[in-house]
Amino acid sequence: MLLNVQRNYPMCELTTFKIGGAARFYVKAESIGSVYESVEFANQQSIPFYVLGGGSNLLVSDKGYDGLVIHMSNTESETTKDGECVHKSCGAGVVWDSFVNECVSENLFGIECLSGIPGTVGASPVQNIGAYGQSVDNLISAVTAIDATTGDFVKFNNAECKFSYRKSLFNSDGFGKYIITSVRFTLKLVGKPNVKYHDLEKYFLKETDITLQEVRTAILKIREYKGMLQMEGYRGFKCAGSFFKNPVVSASHFDEILDGLNGAKSDRNWYWPQVDSDVKISAACLIENCFGKGYRAGRVGLSPNHTLAVVNYDNATFTEVMDFAKLIEDTVYERFKVTLDREVQIL
Ligand SMILES: Cc1cc2nc3c(=O)[nH]c(=O)nc-3n(C[C@H](O)[C@H](O)[C@H](O)COP(=O)(O)OP(=O)(O)OC[C@H]3O[C@@H](n4cnc5c(N)ncnc54)[C@H](O)[C@@H]3O)c2cc1C
Repeated sequence: MLLNVQRNYPMCELTTFKIGGAARFYVKAESIGSVYESVEFANQQSIPFYVLGGGSNLLVSDKGYDGLVIHMSNTESETTKDGECVHKSCGAGVVWDSFVNECVSENLFGIECLSGIPGTVGASPVQNIGAYGQSVDNLISAVTAIDATTGDFVKFNNAECKFSYRKSLFNSDGFGKYIITSVRFTLKLVGKPNVKYHDLEKYFLKETDITLQEVRTAILKIREYKGMLQMEGYRGFKCAGSFFKNPVVSASHFDEILDGLNGAKSDRNWYWPQVDSDVKISAACLIENCFGKGYRAGRVGLSPNHTLAVVNYDNATFTEVMDFAKLIEDTVYERFKVTLDREVQIL
């Protein structure tokens, strides 16, 4: 197979932020064979490579990338049934929401709340995507990847992926080492749609007999309202979704934060006690307390409908976004002594 390597490929069109310079080399890898060949090419040229999915969790420097971007685009898939379980293996390049739509249409439970998340199947385990009360770690039974250091295929079961909140082996110890080629999901033929999350409870009020398709429609509407969709026909912002993660603090630190908030925020949806005595708190709540909603500095700002999203309003540069993020992080730290970790990947 002849690898179609392109030079000086503009990366801003490959990301939802619409920011970033050119990649020195770019390959659209439509088969597992071409992923292999791409790694070989990078090795021969003695350059680094970067694995790209839908570019929806990525901020690229205006200087671009002095290496090879491997754009995962393999879409092979297979479905098997086993009693009440349906197993679906999907190529890394499958568009995530097409996969969710397929599962919902087949009346498979457990994935409906993950409707409308941009990106690819291959990236879904990387930061253990989650939304509206569901996360992908509850669905993944296996991840197949190429170990770029040996060239071998490796298969990870769920426990080996080391999933936690927005974290996995693939964005921690194994970052840059594993190229995920396919993911196997196990879904249920029987169950109840998940409508426990407060936005969904509000949407459905006391309605019963809700179908999976109705939950999907509700999620897409809620996401559109928040500007958190990147789909044709829906309104969205140039952003990478949530820029910051929700921080987890100790119980005593939480009490201090509570004092600092001075009762400004006391509804029930801004903190979540964890299994130990730690508390996960809403980063949006802390940010809004410092800046209000929709704070903007020049061409960069917080989304007015979803505070955690940093938005490129008008051809902002990488540096402008990074400066804005630092201002948010420094101010929140000064006020609450909380470090905001970034959810977005920087290249
Ligand atoms: C409007 C909007 C809303 C969002 N809402 C949510 C949400 O509700 N919940 C949520 O969790 N996330 C959300 N996100 C973030 C994003 O959609 C997810 O993180 C998604 O999984 C990224 O997929 P991607 O294919 O675009 O990955 P990319 O942005 O291309 O890559 C992200 C990271 O994964 C790595 N990667 C990608 N593919 C592979 C692969 N095959 N093998 C190894 N590494 C790989 C990349 O190297 C990079 O480090 C949102 C983003 C946007 C823009």
